[in-house]
Amino acid sequence: MPDSGIMLELCELLKINVNELLSGEKIMADFYDRRAEENLLAMKREIEEKNRQMLRSEYLVVIPAVLAGIVLVFVAAFAPMPAWLRGALIVFAAATIDTVAFIAVGIEQKAGYYACQSCGHRYVPTYWRTNLAPHAGRTRYMKCPVCGKRTWQKKVLTKED
Ligand SMILES: [Zn+2]
Repeated sequence: MPDSGIMLELCELLKINVNELLSGEKIMADFYDRRAEENLLAMKREIEEKNRQMLRSEYLVVIPAVLAGIVLVFVAAFAPMPAWLRGALIVFAAATIDTVAFIAVGIEQKAGYYACQSCGHRYVPTYWRTNLAPHAGRTRYMKCPVCGKRTWQKKVLTKED
């Protein structure tokens, strides 16, 4: 599957259209519409699956980091050690959790869309809008860029239903 960025260029070079490129064969005009629809659907499913996998990968980052953070905090709190080391461990644990949270929000922001509960608009907010929004799990309280209402916006995998 070629990167979408080079698809058009590739089609021009091969003198075929995008649908022919995607389906791997020359298409007769009568079949064109059906093929186009099938390809669009396949592409949509692929994007959906990619976003689903991205969101899954968030757990792979967050869970080990949270466990490591908890262990570090316990060690820092209860193990006998000089004060400077205790301080350094706590700073290290906080920095680790912070870094991972930063990465996790990045994954969440890029995978899929947020859906406005008021008008249904689906969009990708900027990183900092996502990061700074109050959230419960992956649902975030943000202002919709279309209708301007603030609602709890759910994470969805595709741009359209
Ligand atoms: Zn809206």
